Amino acid sequence: MAKSYPIPQASNNPKDFVIATMGSHSALQILKGARDEGMRNLVICKKGKERPYKSYGVADEIILVDEWTDWNEALEEELMKRNAIIIPHGSFIAYLGHERVQKMRTMYYGTKEILEWESDRRLEREWLEKSQLMLPRVFEKPEDIDKPVIVKFHGAGGGFGYFVVKSPEQFYEVKRKKYPEEEDFVIQEYILGVPLYIHYFYSPITKELEIMSLDKRYESNADSIGRIRAEDQLAANIYTSYTIVGNIPIVVRESLLPELFEMGDRVVEVSKTLCGKGLFGPFCLETIVTRKLQIVVFEISARIVAGTNPFIEGSPYTQLKYDVPMSTGRRIAREIKQAIAAGRLDEVLG
Ligand code: AMP
Ligand code: AMP
Repeated sequence: MAKSYPIPQASNNPKDFVIATMGSHSALQILKGARDEGMRNLVICKKGKERPYKSYGVADEIILVDEWTDWNEALEEELMKRNAIIIPHGSFIAYLGHERVQKMRTMYYGTKEILEWESDRRLEREWLEKSQLMLPRVFEKPEDIDKPVIVKFHGAGGGFGYFVVKSPEQFYEVKRKKYPEEEDFVIQEYILGVPLYIHYFYSPITKELEIMSLDKRYESNADSIGRIRAEDQLAANIYTSYTIVGNIPIVVRESLLPELFEMGDRVVEVSKTLCGKGLFGPFCLETIVTRKLQIVVFEISARIVAGTNPFIEGSPYTQLKYDVPMSTGRRIAREIKQAIAAGRLDEVLG
């Protein structure tokens, strides 16, 4: 892919650049992180959604748009004029879509090519399999369902609309009711265990893989069903859903850490064979840990995840490594700052 933005690499001064992101998801953390590293920042908000960024006072500049479709040439010109470097996050990709992101001319932190591997379930699986990770079994067709499975429709965002069934009949019943038109879905073995989201950061500058923090998600109504009696659950005929509401910090059993590091190493190594610069910066392996301590990976996010938000002041792990409160947002800003100062900015842009 041709890079069409003018990389202002003449400057080795981080103050000539602005860290920019979209107002949602992990923007507060990203903006605060930039500021803590002494870099300027800006946030692009949909009109009416700017209050948190004003109230917490973390943004140097707030650019308002009426709709995300207004993310157009004129806005890009404004961003490029400021030497903005965009930090992508989950909402950014969800609202703009992969194709628009690919075409963007503003400087972009991270590898754009890896988005293709992450957004296509088949390619994603190939990447994770090559990385020798344990994955849930995938059922090719509903007729094959012979145990509890989780069904994920393509349109389902943030866990909303996933459902669990254990037979082909149940599958068709729920599908008829909820997604009569949709044919794009994946059927995965339902893994019984606890969710564990591992937040990594890999730096092509230091060549080091770090584990920044871990979280689990607070999901409705998966996290509420257990609050009523089994009889009531049956009577109410509730389907489990996984709509994300918030994130809860986790500290993992220490003897699992060596394996978690090795899993991250392999994902980074394999990514280098898939596309140019490979995967770098923040990423997350989304896993379920079983009672036999098997770590089953059901997804990878190739960017900052919102599960890092509880750690704006750093996590127990970053406290071990850094002498300042180091969030993932701040780690990104530090990486960019160091890359600029070393004349290596190109290495962290996609
Ligand atoms: P939002 O901007 O909150 O509407 O979120 C857009 C998308 O980003 C959602 O569909 C989720 O996939 C993802 N997302 C937002 N917040 C979180 C969160 N706290 N944890 C995990 N994913 C999130
Ligand atoms: P996701 O939106 O892909 O992060 O998934 C949302 C939630 O669905 C996760 O936090 C898990 O609780 C659950 N989940 C996803 N895949 C599986 C699976 N294969 N087995 C069990 N639970 C799953």
